[in-house]
Order: sequence, then C-alpha cells, then structure tokens
Amino acid sequence: MKVIIHGGFFSESDQSHEVKTAKQESLKEIVKRTFEYLQYHSAFDTAAFAVSLLEDDELYNAGTGSQIQSDGVIRMSAAIMDGKTEKMSGVINIQDVKNPIFVAKALMKEDDRVLGGSGAKKYATEHGFENFSTEIPKRREEYQAKLNNGGKGTVGCVVIDKNGKLAVATSTGGKGFEIPGRISDSATVAGNYANAFCAVSCTGVGEDIVSNATAAKIVTRVTDGMSLQNAFEKTFEELKTIDGFAGAIAIDKDGNSYHQDSYPTMVFASFDGENLETFN
Ligand code: ASP
Repeated sequence: MKVIIHGGFFSESDQSHEVKTAKQESLKEIVKRTFEYLQYHSAFDTAAFAVSLLEDDELYNAGTGSQIQSDGVIRMSAAIMDGKTEKMSGVINIQDVKNPIFVAKALMKEDDRVLGGSGAKKYATEHGFENFSTEIPKRREEYQAKLNNGGKGTVGCVVIDKNGKLAVATSTGGKGFEIPGRISDSATVAGNYANAFCAVSCTGVGEDIVSNATAAKIVTRVTDGMSLQNAFEKTFEELKTIDGFAGAIAIDKDGNSYHQDSYPTMVFASFDGENLETFN
C-alpha cells in the first residue's frame, strides 16, 4: 500500500519560507491520514478522501482557497479515475461546492459521468451537496491587485491499495484570471488517468498538459512495458518542444512511485507506512 499526493507548484519568488514550511507540514499530515484511511478502504475511495483533505486546506488552489477567474468568479474542476474499472468521472467549472472531488466521485455511478458548469452545480444540489463559498480573503486580495499566481495550484493523489488496485484523483481552482469557460486539464485524461498498470495526476499549465497528453501518455507507456522513470523521461522530453510547464506524480502496479516536474518545484509527499518522503 502506498499513497502519493501533490499540492501543485511552489515558487520561491512569490511564496514565503513560512508558506513552504506550512505546505510541507500539511502534506505530511494529509499523506499520513490518508494512509490510515487506506487500511480499511479501496484505492478509489482513498484517492477521493486525500483530495478532499487537500481541497479543505486553503493553502492549495483547489476547493477552499481556489483562485478567482477574470470575471471575479471561482470555477473549479475535479476528476477521479478508478484503475480497477478504468472509468473516469468529473466536474468542470463547478461553482460553490465545498468538495468538487466528491461531486466527481458521485458521478461515477451515472451514465453521464463528466458534467460542466451549471449542469454540474444542479446535479450537486440535487444530490445533497450544499451551497458553499470556497473563496478566501487572500484570493480576493490577489484578484483585486490583479496578481496572477500563474497556474501553480492543483492537488492530486495516486494510490495503490492492499489488493494492488490503483486510483487517481485531481482537483483544481484553475490557473487564475482565466477567460470564463476555459477548461482545465484536471478533469481530462491528460491531467488525471489510471488503469490496472499505472495512475498519474498532473499539475501545471493545463494547456501544456493537454497538448502533451501527459497523464494518458505516461500510463500508456507503462502499460506497454516501459518503466515509470523511462515513461516520465520520454513524456517530459516531449513537453520541451512546447516549453511546457508541468509536474506529475505516479504509482505503478508494483507499488513503485515517481514524480517529475519541468520547472521546479512541485510540492508532494509519499508514504507507504514506513518511508515518508516530501519535497525540499
Ligand atoms: N493544471 C491546472 C490548470 O491549468 C492548474 C495548475 O495545476 O496549477 O487548470
């Protein structure tokens, strides 16, 4: 059993030492809580659980603390994929729900599994998800000052459970200041993908991740026999042709995990019950 989580990018230039330490502590705490949860739950349930904890922590650009779009509105996206069933479900540009990942998870039982905008919100309301503002004062101040955090958010989790099943979940508040209607990679197969061989969650500039098809490519390469490391190296090499900005975490069916970013530093933590690894 193993859990690896990420909390997007950390930039030395626009974030303080205190924020860095807070993110390290928060990731360690969340990865440990998630590992405990994994003892009694499937990879699928655990991936959603981890992402909901990250969404609830306002340090990250997902759920509470999401960035604000150019028209002053927060729109969030999230997706989950079960490596066992090879099915994905998600929400794109949903407003005013506490945990977009739980709405994405609820959609797994539907025939229509990815909903956008007002349809996603209507579904959430009809299925008991209360109206909840995910705005925090800091994001509004950044928005008023027209500060753009530049696409360094997003949270994600990849996990392998005691039965060797894999799952991935990813959630984002987007890039910040985007044109209303813009679609993030996070609820697409480029940003969030898993099967029986490998699970990958991405962060970075959604347009680059979609152009590179990052998560789907890494998973396909591992499925076809490449090692995790080789699959990452080839995929990130290809990202260079578009000067792409991305980071990803992954786990394979043998419990190997890997992470790579094109521009340091993606913030992440992993835990297998013994070894706790985190970013520096
Ligand atoms: N990938 C997200 C997006 O483009 C943002 C991020 O990961 O920082 O919407």
